[in-house]
Amino acid sequence: MKIAIIGGGISGLSTAFYIKQKNPNVQITIFEKNKKLGGKMMTKEVDGFLFEEGSNGFLSNKPDTLELVKQSGSEELLLRSSDSARVRFIYKDALHQLPESLSAFIKTPLLSPLGKLRVVGELFVPAKKDNSDETLQSFGYRRVGREMTDAFLDPMVAGIFASAPDKISVNSAFPAVVKLEKEYGGLFKGMMKKKKKEAGPGGVLMSFKGGVSSFIDSLANSLHVEIKTDIDIDKIEQTDDGYTLYTQGTKEEFGKLVLSTPAYVSAQLLKDLDIELSKMLSDIEYSPISVVGLGYDELSHELNGFGLLATSSAKKEILGVLWDSSIFEDRALEGKKALRVMIGGQRNPDLALKSDEELKNIAINGVKETMGIDEKPSVTYVKRWERGIPNYRVGHLERMKELFKKVKEHKGLYLSSNAYYGVGLNDCVANSKKVAKEVTKN
Ligand SMILES: Cc1cc2nc3c(=O)[nH]c(=O)nc-3n(C[C@H](O)[C@H](O)[C@H](O)COP(=O)(O)OP(=O)(O)OC[C@H]3O[C@@H](n4cnc5c(N)ncnc54)[C@H](O)[C@@H]3O)c2cc1C
Repeated sequence: MKIAIIGGGISGLSTAFYIKQKNPNVQITIFEKNKKLGGKMMTKEVDGFLFEEGSNGFLSNKPDTLELVKQSGSEELLLRSSDSARVRFIYKDALHQLPESLSAFIKTPLLSPLGKLRVVGELFVPAKKDNSDETLQSFGYRRVGREMTDAFLDPMVAGIFASAPDKISVNSAFPAVVKLEKEYGGLFKGMMKKKKKEAGPGGVLMSFKGGVSSFIDSLANSLHVEIKTDIDIDKIEQTDDGYTLYTQGTKEEFGKLVLSTPAYVSAQLLKDLDIELSKMLSDIEYSPISVVGLGYDELSHELNGFGLLATSSAKKEILGVLWDSSIFEDRALEGKKALRVMIGGQRNPDLALKSDEELKNIAINGVKETMGIDEKPSVTYVKRWERGIPNYRVGHLERMKELFKKVKEHKGLYLSSNAYYGVGLNDCVANSKKVAKEVTKN
């Protein structure tokens, strides 16, 4: 049996890995449009600075990526974030440290005394009776109040999903939090019963020596499959025995086909095969986001921490700043410092699509306004993602049920990417493992 996987990001590569693990003799070809594998996992080296174009790592509180790293023989590449990276900041009216303890929460100026009291009042908010979906904003206002939602959940969702609380489905994006309400009647009740926080981001942030691309290369080398990069698929046809792929004047037959491309690309590829499925795929919207890397030969700011996220109410042009060289030691050479500034998302989609020059200026101005940095960077790097992160709108899970019912009508067709069941690397790997199980089942 020959299997084609289209898309060589983490979803495509990990799907290949788990298929091979279950059935080492299967023949797999991965088709990737770019010259390099990785998709949103791509490291660029500029004058000794390492800038991540997309993800910079994964949290160790879920087992998925860590397991893949170990099983693919990439363990020696693992790089743990520094201890100082536990300290995070929120920019509201000024820079405030994210409170990590009860006493810090009581003292934080991020919320008024009334806002804090409302958070405690969560204990007395009755659980929602039905399973219907809602936005994160409606969930937050209902359970912890407006102030907490605007000061904490709003910057967090911009940082993780490049989204906004009033635009994202809580059931799809934060299932663990919804589960706390459903199972324990409330968030505090749930957290107290479970004794540890599973709801918010936790665990240790892990990355790779030399950046995430080093893991992508190592994973790809471990696969022993055929990899075709810099290739465009012109057309896909379904036959009695599987699928025919037409690529730049040649055609190849495969028994099974896994699409690990973004949903809008999969929609295009499946247009002639199933117009209804294609429409369902193109209905999944993406948020634009741009990443500006700033490298400093000299910078007086100590960068003790992970970085900052700005609230919508701060009305800044940037979403946040990651203090990269403080998080991972090898992102800048000794004595130098590296930052990455995030711009756009659903909060300011138009800003993400500005010219390189404009984005650099927004970033430089942003670090000045939020961190007081006056020095000019020695090196800059801009990566613009016109469709960066899929947006899970309210009702996403229901729509995915319908979409995958439709996929099942096509024997030997599978979808594996961040567009359906989670955008984090851990989610992509966990989902790829499930897809691989289905592919090898029959
Ligand atoms: C700025 C940013 C920061 C992020 N930070 C984090 C983070 O810190 N931690 C975290 O866990 N997650 C993070 N993420 C999310 C995470 O990186 C992605 O969800 C994940 O990498 C997506 O992997 P994927 O393989 O599903 O999709 P992609 O990485 O998009 O891969 C799809 C692949 O398909 C290829 N392709 C497209 N069209 C074709 C075609 N016609 N033919 C063949 N191939 C094609 C693409 O080139 C690409 O390689 C971040 C994302 C962004 C954008």
